[in-house]
Amino acid sequence: MSQKIRTRFAPSPTGFLHIGGARTTLYNWLYARRHKGDFILRIEDTDEVRSTDDSVTAILDSVTWLGLNWDEGPKDGKTDTGPYSPYFQMQRVHIYRKYLDQLVDGGKAYRCYCTKEELDEMRRIAQLEKRPPKYDGRCRNLTPDQRKAQEAAGKKFSIRFKMPTEGATVVDDAIRGQVSFENVLQQDLVIWKTTDGPTYNFCCVIDDHLMEMTHVVRGDEHLSNTPSQIQIYYALGWQPPKFAHLSMILGPDGSKLSKRHGATSVLEYRDQGYLPHTMRNYLALLGWSTTESQQLFTDEDLISKFDLEGCQKSPATFDTVKLNWMNGEYIRQTPIDELIKLAMPFIEKAGLNVSSGPDLKRVIALEHEKFKLLSEIPRLIEFFYKPVEFDPKAFEKVLKAPGAKDVLLGLAEDLAQAPSWTEKPLEERIRAFVAAKALKNGQVFHPIRVAISGRTEGPTLFLMMEVMGKDMVLSRLKEAAAKI
Ligand code: GLU
Repeated sequence: MSQKIRTRFAPSPTGFLHIGGARTTLYNWLYARRHKGDFILRIEDTDEVRSTDDSVTAILDSVTWLGLNWDEGPKDGKTDTGPYSPYFQMQRVHIYRKYLDQLVDGGKAYRCYCTKEELDEMRRIAQLEKRPPKYDGRCRNLTPDQRKAQEAAGKKFSIRFKMPTEGATVVDDAIRGQVSFENVLQQDLVIWKTTDGPTYNFCCVIDDHLMEMTHVVRGDEHLSNTPSQIQIYYALGWQPPKFAHLSMILGPDGSKLSKRHGATSVLEYRDQGYLPHTMRNYLALLGWSTTESQQLFTDEDLISKFDLEGCQKSPATFDTVKLNWMNGEYIRQTPIDELIKLAMPFIEKAGLNVSSGPDLKRVIALEHEKFKLLSEIPRLIEFFYKPVEFDPKAFEKVLKAPGAKDVLLGLAEDLAQAPSWTEKPLEERIRAFVAAKALKNGQVFHPIRVAISGRTEGPTLFLMMEVMGKDMVLSRLKEAAAKI
């Protein structure tokens, strides 16, 4: 194909960017990057009641956090950049009006004077007759006189697009193949509202054409809009782009992914401590796969392998266990210095002061293998930086065990003489202490751990002691003994 590939993500700013929208963004981005094309962000804010500035900001923040840079589109919530500017639909109303007039003048769209009550009644009857609701076309063929009468009576009107009443519209979908829709079953869609503004289905066609989109990749909830959109392209004498409708995302219980299944907004995932790279990799596999079923991808790898043919028709299931596993993998692959940078906001939010005390780099390194989420880092390292808080069960079971107090006091005395405070010599010295007192390892190791960390689980013991430092360990052994 010689034409430059152009894809877009076109969110309606009526809420946060959720997982489905994030996946749509990613697939459009990957497709454009793979083909050295352009990826465009367009804000579809025609729903004046539900669109908010906050949603625009949240969506831009989310896409930015995901690392999916766009070539044209908003710079912030109000301004944009690119050869097809503006990219906010409500700044393009004059453009839509021009094409609206063209359709109305050409007899391809018409004024509909039906009131809300009349439309509700049509819906009610359809329900009674157990057929899908559909506008009955009563304003489609009004004579000029009939229209005049309606307007003389002060009736407001919307404008509907005249769908063909015969034949079928075939959506040639890159994922689903040829999907045929009988025209007679389609509605005459409202393309201009009674409140004098354009609707999504209309603007979307005009923009995708004028902005020269080659591919429209979006969620399958839009498949049913596509035949009408295609007919609008035809009515304007345009060629539709290639469509690709992505399968639905389900929660683990098999129902459509929703709040009930946990976090759905991208920013919640950020705040829980997932890495952007994890999200890119995970979302890529939520409905797409390679023939080798590869799981971990670098960005370059994803870009070079992603294709629409590998997208599945059947719904994808969101699996938090896999997501967490992947995040752990990527945290392990992150060099310590970078990990500290990523973890810092979480450490600060937890109110942990790491500017003094044990070396943060070494502390983080101790548990690097175990972190699954950035947000769990503060809890796992906090005892290095604030007074020990004893887990009550551990205190009862381990520190109150017979002899534990003597062990801690004896050790504090013995370790004070240790000439070297590194892992191996520490281990040897403590094992010698165990032997000299004819104790079992557990009778010594467990109390040390609880005394210096307050917990029964944590980093490997002797290395943890090394990193904590002699002074802190000795004083904690004595403090714990005093508390028993
Ligand atoms: N504005 C639509 C939405 O947020 C996008 C539709 C499209 O991609 O064509 O659902």
